[in-house]
This record gives sequence, C-alpha cells and structure tokens, in this order.
Amino acid sequence: MFHTVTIFDLSKNPGFRISLGKPRIGGCGVGHNQGLPVQTTVQTSITFEGVGLHSGAPATLTIRPADVDHGIWFQRTDIALGDTRIPARWDVVETSPLCTLIRNPAGVSVSTIEHVMAALAGCGVHNALIEIDGPECPIMDGSAVPFVRGILSHGVRRLSAPVQAIEILTPVSVHTANGWARLSPEQGTSMSFHIDFTDAAIGVQSKTLNLANGTFVRELCDSRTFCRAADVDMMHSQGKALGGTYENAVVVDGADVLSPGGLRHADEAVRHKMLDALGDLFLAGAPILGHYEGHKAGHAMTNALLREVFANRDAFRIVLCDDRLAARLPGAGVKRTEIPAVA
Ligand SMILES: [Zn+2]
Repeated sequence: MFHTVTIFDLSKNPGFRISLGKPRIGGCGVGHNQGLPVQTTVQTSITFEGVGLHSGAPATLTIRPADVDHGIWFQRTDIALGDTRIPARWDVVETSPLCTLIRNPAGVSVSTIEHVMAALAGCGVHNALIEIDGPECPIMDGSAVPFVRGILSHGVRRLSAPVQAIEILTPVSVHTANGWARLSPEQGTSMSFHIDFTDAAIGVQSKTLNLANGTFVRELCDSRTFCRAADVDMMHSQGKALGGTYENAVVVDGADVLSPGGLRHADEAVRHKMLDALGDLFLAGAPILGHYEGHKAGHAMTNALLREVFANRDAFRIVLCDDRLAARLPGAGVKRTEIPAVA
C-alpha cells in the first residue's frame, strides 16, 4: 500500500500551484526571482490527429497555451456536462498495465498520455491545456517525435514566473517481484534503464543518459512503443491494442522485427522505456532533479515511485531554478534542428 500526500491544490480550477510554502532558490548567488529562468508554454495551439492504440478510435488532440503555474491539464471536449478537466498529476493516475491513465473525481478519464507528456517534459514546456475528443490520446507513430516536432516547429513561449523543480533529497525506491525503480539525489536529470526480454530482437538492453542538452530530442523522442507478436492476440482478446499496427508499434517475434523498416535504433526498446518514464515522471507536476533508475519497470511502477516520494516529506523539496539548475533539466539545450528525421 502506498501513502498519498497531496502537495498540490486539488481545486477543480484548471490552475494549480505547488503548495509547499516558499521554494528555496537552487544554485549559488541568486536571492531573488528576477533574472531566473522562466516557465514556458506552447506558442500557439497545435493539433494532432490519429487513432488510439488500445481503442482503435479516431482521436484529435490539441495542445493549447496556458498561463504560469497552470501545469499540464487535459480536457475532454466530447463531454458536454460536468467536470471534464483532468490534471496530469501522479495522484489521479489509475492502475493500468499498458499505459498511463488519469481520471478526475467525476470519473472522466484519458489514457495513453505518456508520450505527449514526455514530449512536453523533453521540450521544457511547463504549462499547457490539452484538449482531447475522446478517452485515449492518438498514438501517432508510437513515439513522441510527432508531438516534439509540432511543439518545436511552432515554438515555446516564455512566461513571467520562475521555473520550479522537485529536488530529490534522499533515495526512494519501489520493488515488485519483477523489477524495481528508484530516484536518487542528483543536481540534474538523468536516467538509467535496464530491460530483459526473451525475444532476441529485444534481449537485454541497458542505457544511461543525462537528459539535459537536448538529449531527449536527439536520443529518445523517436523511439516507438513495442510489443511481442505472441502478446498481440492476447491483447486483442482483452480489447487492447485494437489500433495497433506494424507502423505505430515495433512488433517483434523471437529474433525478427516484423515492422517494416526495422528498428530506428538497435536499442529502440530501452530508449522507449526511458521516454515513457520521462513522461510518467512529469506527472510529479514539475521537472525532477534526480537520477531515475528503472529495472524492468513500467508505468505502474514509476507512478508507485512518485507516490512513495510524495509520501515522504523529507525525500524532496521544491526549488526555484537558477540558470545552473535550469541548464540541467530535460528542456535545456533543445534544438529543432536535432529532431530525428523519421515519420
Ligand atoms: Zn510508451
């Protein structure tokens, strides 16, 4: 059982603030807000059309600009009555083994949010309202690169409030019989991931990356979701992956990659797991200063890890980022020219 400590204002209004009192200023020699790196939002509304991976239903998603301290919220435009907004936040995540699903108290949900969340985190976008006309985000090409391309081609708008980050102060970990995940103190955002699949096309893969300096855009954003051919029939029988194709997921069968064109990276699978983890960690409500390790981890485990962090008041603190800290966050050093030329 995980203990939940709410650190955010849970009002139904779209705006929310990290509410732990006055944040400390990170770095040296900065004692006021002026001149600090500022929060951002998207420059203009950006629309994406596709199908839901699991539902197979058409889906239109629009990322709209939002003001300072708004955070990331979703809004269901296909529902006319009641509370249709859902915060992209760890404490409204519902257990779902194959994707990240959030649900508000009115029961309104949206699923498969992790790739657009990774794109926002990786591009350093702190505030946005994401409108969606159904219960599942479009899968696009199975990676985050269409969202990254859309965000960076339209540009990121600077706002008038400093960037807040969640600094990990003590190691926090969660374990299951199959794997584990951990967050440890680090003056930056970095990630190590390890996976081990019986299919030789995936096999054992490990990777460690510092996510500053545009690393997410260069190294991770084009890596696609993947599955084993042996699992496709099982998922279909459960009503999952109905929108899956060989084009929007890497399908492997033993040593064979069934998707046309093969892999985008030899270790595309572990890169995608890191992409997923970055998106899921952004549900903390702010960028995390820390080192994430995932050992055969998935969406549920990363969410359990966030719940464990926020259950321990001594494990983290909120900081206002100075230039030195902001330069170590995933949105730092992002260049549109470095978007992989795929899809
Ligand atoms: Zn994914």
